[in-house]
Amino acid sequence: MVNAEIGVIGGSGFYSFLDDVSEIQVETPYGPPSDSLYLGELAGRQVAFLPRHGRSHTVPPHKINYRANLWALRSVGVRQVLGPCAVGGLRAEYGPGTLLVPDQLVDRTKSRAQTYFDGEPLPDGSVPNVVHTTFADPYCPVGRTVALESARGRGWEPVDGGTMVVIEGPRFSTRAESRWHAAAGWSVVGMTGHPEAVLARELGLCYTSMALVTDLDAGAETGEGVSHTEVLKVFGENVGRLREVLFDAVAALPPTASRSCLCTHAHDGWDLGIELP
Ligand SMILES: [Zn+2]
Repeated sequence: MVNAEIGVIGGSGFYSFLDDVSEIQVETPYGPPSDSLYLGELAGRQVAFLPRHGRSHTVPPHKINYRANLWALRSVGVRQVLGPCAVGGLRAEYGPGTLLVPDQLVDRTKSRAQTYFDGEPLPDGSVPNVVHTTFADPYCPVGRTVALESARGRGWEPVDGGTMVVIEGPRFSTRAESRWHAAAGWSVVGMTGHPEAVLARELGLCYTSMALVTDLDAGAETGEGVSHTEVLKVFGENVGRLREVLFDAVAALPPTASRSCLCTHAHDGWDLGIELP
C-alpha cells in the first residue's frame, strides 16, 4: 500500500540522492502523469516526487498533463504539495538567485485543461458536476509561511508575496509583453504555475509555489534577451540551496490530519459528482 503525505513537483535534482527511493507508475482517469512518482522518506515524512517535465525534461510546459499529475499525487495520499519552479524576474531588484514565494497568480495560458469539474464523464462512468472553486487566494497560507521560514533558516532572504503571471510558453516573452507584465505590477513570470495551483485547490490539496528567479525577463534583460542556457545555468547554481530549503519545508509542514487552512474547505457545500482519489 503506497502512502505519501507530501508531494514535490520538481526534477531529479531534488530526490536523486535520497536513500531508498522507490519508483511507481500511477494511472489516472486523465492518462499518465509526466513520469513515475518517486517515493522516499525525508525527515520522517513520506514524500512523493514528480518530475514536472519528465525525468529527461521531454514534456514542454503547455503539454504537461497537469490534471494527471495532481490526481496521481492525491491518489497516493498526498495532501500538501510544494511546487518549486524557475521564473523570470519582472523587476530589476528580483535578479537571478532571488527566491520569491508568491501570494497571487495571473493566468495568461491558452490551451490547458484547468479543471476536473467540466461535466465530462470519467472512464468509470462517474460524471463530475460543474463546480466553481473559490480561488481568491491561490496558495496555501500555511505552506507559504513554512516556505518563507525555511528559506530564512538557510540564510536566504526570500521575497514574501508577489504575483506570478503564467504564460503559455514554451517561448519566452517578447520585450513588449515583458514590459506590459511589469507595468501591471506583476512580480515574476513562469510557464507552469498554472493550472498546477488551481488543480491542486480543486482536489483540496495545499499548494505552495517556490519561485527561483533565473533571469531578468526580456523587459529588463539587456543583450539578446533570456536564453534557455542562462536559465539552466542559474538553476544549476541554486538547486543545492533550493533543495535544502525544500527539505526543511517538508519537515516543517503540519501533519495532514491537522490541516484547517482554506485549501481544505475549497468545496464546502458543493456536490462534486465524483469521488476524489
Ligand atoms: Zn492549505
